[in-house]
Amino acid sequence: MKAIRIETTGGPDVLRCVEMEAPAPGPGEIRIRPGAIGVNFIDTYQRSGLYPVALPSGLGLEAAGVIDAIATDVTRFKLGDRAGFCTGPIGAYAEAHCVNADRAVKLPDAISDDIAAACLLKGMTARYLLRKTFPVQRQHVVLIHAAAGGVGQIAVQWAKHLGATVIAIVGADAKAEIATRLGADHVIVSARETIAERVRALTNGEGVDVVYDSVGKDTFEASLDSLKPLGLFVSFGNASGPAPPLNPQILSMKGSLFFTRPTLFHYTRTPALLQETTDDLFAVIASGAVKIAPPTHYKLENAADAHRDLEARGTTGSLVLTP
Ligand code: NDP
Repeated sequence: MKAIRIETTGGPDVLRCVEMEAPAPGPGEIRIRPGAIGVNFIDTYQRSGLYPVALPSGLGLEAAGVIDAIATDVTRFKLGDRAGFCTGPIGAYAEAHCVNADRAVKLPDAISDDIAAACLLKGMTARYLLRKTFPVQRQHVVLIHAAAGGVGQIAVQWAKHLGATVIAIVGADAKAEIATRLGADHVIVSARETIAERVRALTNGEGVDVVYDSVGKDTFEASLDSLKPLGLFVSFGNASGPAPPLNPQILSMKGSLFFTRPTLFHYTRTPALLQETTDDLFAVIASGAVKIAPPTHYKLENAADAHRDLEARGTTGSLVLTP
C-alpha cells in the first residue's frame, strides 16, 4: 500500500510517499481502507515538530472508509462495514490503517466518506468547544477566529444554531463572505481591522462572553482584550505559532477572566464520550443546522501540497486526501 511517512520533522518536503505492507489488525482493532483521509492543522504541528512524535512515523489522525480486516475479538463491527476515526493512532495518510474498534465511529449511510473525513475531527472539536468547554446559549456573544477554516465553518453554524450572537474573524476579505453566508452576525477582517477595537464597538464596549482562539501567537493579546469581565478564553490551536506564556495576574487585570487550553482527545477519552460527541455531530448535520461544505481534494501522494496550502492560509473549509 501507499503511505505518507516522515523520517524527520520539518517543512512539507519531509512528507514522503512510500510503498509498504498493509498492517494487520492487532487485538481489538479494525483495518480501514479509506475513501477519504482528513487533513488537519494538527498534522502540520506533528510534521514540523511543534507536537513531538516518535520518528520515523506516519501522519494523519482521521479517515473514513470500509473495514477490510478485523481482529477476531471485535464484535462492534463486521467486515465490509463503513467506519471512520479521528483520534488516531497517527498514520491515517495511507491506503489502509488499523484503529482500535472502540475509537472508531459507525457512519450513517447519509454521510459519505468524503463528508466524514471532512467533519469528524473538526465537527467533534466544534461540538466540545461550544457544548462542553463553554456551553453556549442564546444570550451569549461568541468570538470565533479562523471562521472560514475547517473547524471555523462548523463552529459558526453550530453557535448560530445554539442561538448565540456570533462575531467571526477571518484573515482576508475573500473569506468574509463565507462567514456571513454561514450566519455570522458580524465579520472582522483581521488583515485590515483591529480585532479588540471592533469587538468593543460591536458589543457597546462590553466584550464577548467567550473567545475561541485557534490562531495562537498572533491573536493572543487581541483575544484577551475582547472579553467581558468573567469571560472565558478558549485557546485551542496555534495556526500562527504557540500562544505566549500567560501570567495569571493578567487574567485578574483584564476582568477576572477564565482561561483554558483544551484538546479533543480529553473530551472524547472514553467510548461513551466519543459516542455522545459523534451522535450530537451527526444529529446537527442530519437536521440541516450544520452543513458540511464539500472538501477540497488532494491525491494522497500530494499530501505536501495540502500542508503548504493550509499553512499559507490559502484554504477554506476542510481538505481531504484521496487514496
Ligand atoms: P483551518 O482550516 O482553520 O486553517 C487554519 C486557519 O488559521 C487559516 O485558514 C487561517 O485563516 C488561520 N490563520 C491565522 N493565522 C495563521 C497563520 N499565521 N498561519 C496559518 N493559518 C493562520 O484549520 P483546521 O480547521 O484544521 O484547524 C483549525 C485550528 O483548530 C487549528 O489551530 C487547529 O490546531 C485547531 N484544532 C484544535 C483542536 C483541539 O482540540 N484543541 C482540534 C482540532 C483543531 P484566516 O486566513 O482566515 O486567518
